[in-house]
Amino acid sequence: MKIIHVDMDQFFAAVEQLDQPSLMGKPIAVGHDAERGVVSTASYEARKYGVHSAQSIQVAKRLCPQLIIVEPHFQRYKEVSSQVHEIFNDYTDIIEPISLDEAFLDVTENKKGMELGVDIAREIKQRIYDSTGLTASAGVSYCKFLAKIASDWRKPNGLTVIHPDRALDFIAKLKIEKIWGADFRKGYQRAVNYHHQTLPHRTRAGATYF
Ligand SMILES: [Mg+2]
Repeated sequence: MKIIHVDMDQFFAAVEQLDQPSLMGKPIAVGHDAERGVVSTASYEARKYGVHSAQSIQVAKRLCPQLIIVEPHFQRYKEVSSQVHEIFNDYTDIIEPISLDEAFLDVTENKKGMELGVDIAREIKQRIYDSTGLTASAGVSYCKFLAKIASDWRKPNGLTVIHPDRALDFIAKLKIEKIWGADFRKGYQRAVNYHHQTLPHRTRAGATYF
């Protein structure tokens, strides 16, 4: 099996910076600038201040006072995403999109008859850049789990290969946070919230749980 995971770098923010050159190199967050607004994507310049996806816009502005909030243009993101998918289609029909900016490609039997996944990934990254002006990171391995870990390894504009004989070493080096689906901090926070919310309630309910 040869699997490539392609992940566009800071996708919504990158598209906005591309379309509005005055935003290039600036800390921006894509989202609605409202009381309950949430950051959908932060530019790398904003991430240096601790701004990240899923954070409240109000918190983000406190962390980075010069943060520029940009309204999302989903139609435009979809357009760019289909441009990228057209490139994928030149290599394989087995494409599993995860979101507008991420997909798995099974290139075991690819349309170009190319032998190495890494060559395909390199070519796809270059073609994405040539046609959209945006960078993507790619990971290559023999299963989706490791391809996904690999694409995240050297962001932005990264290309990482995990060979089967190095897979165990690679997994051993991983921090738990890096494992797909295991968002330790979020899980921990959820556990804390759960106890804070439910303990007094349960105590009042008659302490039968204890
Ligand atoms: Mg991405």
